Amino acid sequence: MKLLLIMPDAHMHTLKIGPFVRSMREMPLSICTLAALTPEYPDLDIRLIDGSVEPVPLDYDANLVAISVITGCAASAYAIADHYRGRNIPVVLGGVHVTILPGEAIRHADAIVIGRAEKAWPRLFEDFRAGRMQKIYEEDDVDDLLGVPAPRRDLHRRSGYMVPDSIQATRGCKKICDFCTVPAVWPKYLRRPVDDVIRDIRATKGRYIAFNDVSIAEDPEYAKELFTAMIPLGKKWGGLATVDIVNDPELLALMKASGCGYLLFGFESDSQATLKGIRKGFNKPVNYEDVIRAMHAINISVQGCFVFGFDHDTAEVFQNTVERVNELKIDIPRYSLYTPYPGTELFRRLQGEDRILSYNWDDYDTMHVVIQPALMTPEELYSGFKRAYRETFKLPNVIRRMRGLSTNTAINFIGNLTYQMFVRRLYNEQRFSAPYSMLAPGTAPDEGWYRSSFKLTETP
Ligand code: SF4
Repeated sequence: MKLLLIMPDAHMHTLKIGPFVRSMREMPLSICTLAALTPEYPDLDIRLIDGSVEPVPLDYDANLVAISVITGCAASAYAIADHYRGRNIPVVLGGVHVTILPGEAIRHADAIVIGRAEKAWPRLFEDFRAGRMQKIYEEDDVDDLLGVPAPRRDLHRRSGYMVPDSIQATRGCKKICDFCTVPAVWPKYLRRPVDDVIRDIRATKGRYIAFNDVSIAEDPEYAKELFTAMIPLGKKWGGLATVDIVNDPELLALMKASGCGYLLFGFESDSQATLKGIRKGFNKPVNYEDVIRAMHAINISVQGCFVFGFDHDTAEVFQNTVERVNELKIDIPRYSLYTPYPGTELFRRLQGEDRILSYNWDDYDTMHVVIQPALMTPEELYSGFKRAYRETFKLPNVIRRMRGLSTNTAINFIGNLTYQMFVRRLYNEQRFSAPYSMLAPGTAPDEGWYRSSFKLTETP
C-alpha cells in the first residue's frame, strides 16, 4: 500500500532564484510526525513531499493521499486534492486551516481530520485499510502531549532548509493576541515530557536545531527543566520567545548554557496604544532596548518582527519603524502585514466592519494586503511595506545595525543576506506585484463553515 503525505508550498517560506530553491524556515514537523503516527504494516510504503522545497508529484500511484493544510496554502492543497480525487484516489485533509474551516475543506476531501492528529490519524488509517473510512475524524480534548512518537526524519528530505532538524516541546500559547491563529486552533497550552523532547533532540543529526514552538519559554519552570537537560547535549539552537523572558535571569542563563544562539521576538509595533488594542500589551516599546541589550549580552542574535497595517498606523509608520529597527540594532528585522486569519478575533472584527478585501487564501501569507486599513489606502500600505523592507536591508543600514556587536556573525550574515534576496523577490516577482489578487466580498466563509458551528448535513 502506498501512502503519500503532502505539505503544499505556502509561498511565503520559499526563496526561489533560478534553479536555487530554499525554504526560509526549519523543516516542518507535520508530515514526518504523521508518518510516525501511521500504524506499521509490512506492505506500507510512505512517501513525504514538502512542496516548499520539491515539486508535488501529480502522477503518483498512491492508495491514499493526506495533505496538511495551513491557510496560505489552502488553495494549492484543494487543487492537489481535487486532482487526486479526479484520479479516484482518496484524499484526507487536516491541519490548521481544516480545523478552523472544516465545512470548506470537506468539499475537497474524502475525509478530514479536525484538531490534533495523534489519535485521530491512526484511527482513520486503520478504518481506511478496513474499507470503512468515515468523513470526519476529530481528536478528543486532551490536557497533555504524552506519547508523541519521534518524527520519521528518515523519510523526510533534509536539503533545502535553513535548519533541517526541528523540534517541538510545547504546543499553544497562554496569550491571546487578536491576529494569532494559535489560540484559535490550540486553545490549551500543552507541554511534552522533557524526556521525550530530549530523546528527539538526541536523534537529530546536525549540531543546530530549531524549536518550532510559538513561545518556547511560555512556562518558565518547564523551560528551565528542558534547558537544564539540554546542556550535556552540546547542541546550538534557535526558537521563538516573548519579551518577558528578560525578567528572569536564571532562565536566560540556562537558555544560554543550553546552546541558544538565536531568538525571534514579535515586537509587532512601537506604539503602546496599538499593542494594547491587539491584546499584546505585555510588549512595552520603552523596554525593547533592554530586551535586545540583554540578548546581545549573552550573544543571542535577535530576529525582531514588526507588523504594518494596524488601525493606528499612518503613512509615517514605515520610516519610523526602519529608524527604530536601526537604532535598536535588531540583528535580523522582519516585517509582515496585519492579516486576519480565519478563526481569529481579528477576522471576526474586520468581517463585521466589512473591511476584508480578499478571501483568496493565497493572499493570506502576511505579504499581501487583505484588509482595508483604517488610516491609509491598501496601495499605500503595500508600497510602504515594500519600501520599509528595501530601506532596512540596504547595505549601509545592515552595517549600521551590526557595527560594534559581537553576536553570532554567521547567523546575522546569513539572515540579512537571505532577506536582501527576499527584497529582490518582493519587487520583481509577478505574484507580489499587486497589493491583493482578488476582491471578493460575498465569498467569505459562512457560519456553517466554522468549526464551532460545523455539522455535516449534506454529502459534499
Ligand atoms: S502572537 Fe505569539 S504571544 Fe501572541 S498568542 Fe500568538 S503565539 Fe502567543
